[in-house]
Amino acid sequence: MSTKQASFYQSVERNFDKAAALTNHPKGLLEQIKVCNAIYQMNFPVKIGNSYQVIEAYRVQHSHHRLPTKGGIRFSHLVNQDEVMALASLMTYKCALVDVPFGGAKGGVCVSPRKYTEEQLEKITRRYTVELVRKNFIGPGIDVPAPDYGTGSREMAWIVDTYQQLKNGEIDSAACVTGKPVSQNGIRGRTEATGRGVFYGLKEMLSYPNDCKEMGLSPGIAGKTMVIQGLGNVGSYTGTISIEEGDAKVIGVSEIEGTIYNPKGIDIKKLIKYRKEKGSIIGFPGTKKLENRDDWVGMECDILVPAALESQINKKNAKKVKAKIIAEAANGPVTADAEEILLKKGIVIVPDMYLNAGGVTVSYFEWLKNLSHVRYGRIEKRFDQNAYTNLVSTVEKLTGKTISKRERTLLTKGPEEVDLVRSGLEETMITAYGQVREIYKRKKKVKDLRSAAFINAINKVASDYMTLGVFP
Ligand code: NAD
Repeated sequence: MSTKQASFYQSVERNFDKAAALTNHPKGLLEQIKVCNAIYQMNFPVKIGNSYQVIEAYRVQHSHHRLPTKGGIRFSHLVNQDEVMALASLMTYKCALVDVPFGGAKGGVCVSPRKYTEEQLEKITRRYTVELVRKNFIGPGIDVPAPDYGTGSREMAWIVDTYQQLKNGEIDSAACVTGKPVSQNGIRGRTEATGRGVFYGLKEMLSYPNDCKEMGLSPGIAGKTMVIQGLGNVGSYTGTISIEEGDAKVIGVSEIEGTIYNPKGIDIKKLIKYRKEKGSIIGFPGTKKLENRDDWVGMECDILVPAALESQINKKNAKKVKAKIIAEAANGPVTADAEEILLKKGIVIVPDMYLNAGGVTVSYFEWLKNLSHVRYGRIEKRFDQNAYTNLVSTVEKLTGKTISKRERTLLTKGPEEVDLVRSGLEETMITAYGQVREIYKRKKKVKDLRSAAFINAINKVASDYMTLGVFP
């Protein structure tokens, strides 16, 4: 192991190569799957206050084997080409893994959102969108962005609005971006989708009693202790949903300002409110502050959830990890070097390309909704409700018994959009885990879940290339 830290993209390449070596695909095909197909680096001026600032930005389309390409847009002062290439690559494997029919892509704008006003951010976002339109790097059938670190539904609303101004009359234009506000053709359940997917993924993984035994854990997510790094979109929903629907216990939280813990559990909803009011998680009632922000890595817990940025667990701090499971809610939080150390310690890493795929899965549902121009549940809800009501009434009539009003409402409810989205997401996470686990358990040479996930993704992309006739 060299002393120099591998870049994020190098780490992804290393993981790819490790898994690719366990497949039988031709070298040229593997090379084609691995490389980034198109990289667009741009610099554009934006007037901020009384002066102009040149903004550096990227859009990388990793794989055109399926179109459109898909992937979020990141706003961070740390954005660079290597990072966007790594994130775009992961998107290809992620989409393949969860059977979302897109190639991978990613965008990055090198700005720190905290340093700009809302108006300035709007200007930057709209100008970035114009650049994408000009180079044909955005469109419902071309490349469809979504939120990522530092962006959310607000930015997606600016993007769709800019796109529609330039593409007046394009009937499917709403599908040019996902993660939009519900009022602007978004979908219910998208904001929470990544965190909810992390929860479904962990729940599924912990539902195999023998696997849990091997990890030294009891089955089920209930009662499991969690430590979360990053209380943004992904971290906060992972925490709240794991507590509310899984009965897990979040005992530690790390944010920019430091790390806090409470062995009895932290109420994440209250903590988010507290941080909004005070601007910090430090001082939240019932919690103690750890000495160093990065001490979260070594906290005693069942599940460590990095949900901030890449390379957070690296060869410098990997030895400190005491958790049984590392749940990669963020993209690339564990470097390839760190992974070697962690696997030797018997720690199970649930890979990003599987665990945080909930976001792109629900984005896919949003894209389909936009293309079909109809809300999920609109057509079948009443029909189902009437059919269930008739069924319950018939059973009551035949048995001579009646059920309570509450039971009747529960049994006869037709599906709302959010119910269907959650159901589709849960099904996707369960199916994808089953496929990865099967490879992990069946193939002796596959020693970790990340390699199993990569193999499954590579096989699917390879099969697409074969179908296209590019590699007969
Ligand atoms: P976000 O901007 O909403 O939140 C990230 C949080 O991490 C912020 O609150 C930030 O202050 C915190 N943070 C940054 N550096 C930190 C540090 N060193 N220590 C502690 N906290 C730190 O971003 P997000 O959308 O939640 O994305 C987080 C990760 O999840 C990224 O890796 C992203 O690529 C990945 N991801 C996001 C989505 C999505 O739908 N948003 C989907 C898949 C993967």
